[in-house]
Amino acid sequence: MLNLRRCVYSACSLPKSLSRSESTNAYSSKWVSPNLSEELNKFTARNPLPATICLIGNPHLRRSNELVLNPDHDFVQAAKLRLHGALADFRRQNGFGRGMSACQIGVNLRMIALNLGYGPLTLINPEIVWSSSDKITMWDDCMSIPHLLVKKQRAKSISIVYTDDQGKKQQWNKLDVSISELLQHEMDHLEGILNIDEPYRDEDINKNESIISMDEYQRNKHYYDQQVDYKIVPTV
Ligand SMILES: [Zn+2]
Repeated sequence: MLNLRRCVYSACSLPKSLSRSESTNAYSSKWVSPNLSEELNKFTARNPLPATICLIGNPHLRRSNELVLNPDHDFVQAAKLRLHGALADFRRQNGFGRGMSACQIGVNLRMIALNLGYGPLTLINPEIVWSSSDKITMWDDCMSIPHLLVKKQRAKSISIVYTDDQGKKQQWNKLDVSISELLQHEMDHLEGILNIDEPYRDEDINKNESIISMDEYQRNKHYYDQQVDYKIVPTV
C-alpha cells in the first residue's frame, strides 16, 4: 500500500514559523468532543456498513453544497455520524486519512469530518477568512480520485471560521502548512471543485506533467519531488 496520501504530508524546507504553535494549533485534542466519539461508536455498532466514498464521475461531487442551518437536525446528525464512520473506516483500511467532506459520501451539506490523530471533529459551514500570500506547490491526492496525484499550488497558511460539534463558532488562525493544505483541499470539495480542475502548471508546461499516476510517482519519486517545494513525507 502506498503511504503517501493526505495524512502523511509533513513540512520540508519550510520556515519554522509555519510549524505548530499554541495559538494556532489545530492538532490539539481540545477540539475533539468526547460525546462525538461515543455517538460515533454507538452509530457504527448499529450501522456496520459504512457509507461508500463517491468516486469522480459521481454527480454529488459536483453539486452545490448547502449551508447547515440547524446542526441539531436529525438528518444533519445522522449525516455527520455517517461521514465520520466513512472516514474512520477509510483510516482502518488504509492506515491514513485526515479529512472527508460530506459530498464525498453523497450528502451535499457544507460539513467536513476531520481526524488529526486525536479523534473525530467536525467543521460545519467552514469558511476561509484569510490566506497567506506565500504559496507552496505539492502533489495532492484525493480519496475520490484514487491512483492519481495532481500538482497543486496552495496558500502556505490560512485562517478559518466554522461551527463546531457543540454549535459554537470557532476560529483557527494562521494554521500550519499541513492542516492548511488539507483544509484548502476539503473546502474545494464544498465548492464542487476537485484537485484535477486546477492543476499547477510549471512555466515550461511541456517539461513537467501536472497530473500523474501514483505508480509513476513511486517509480520516479525523486524526480517528481524536485518539482514541488512541499514534499510528501511518510510520518506515523
Ligand atoms: Zn478529496
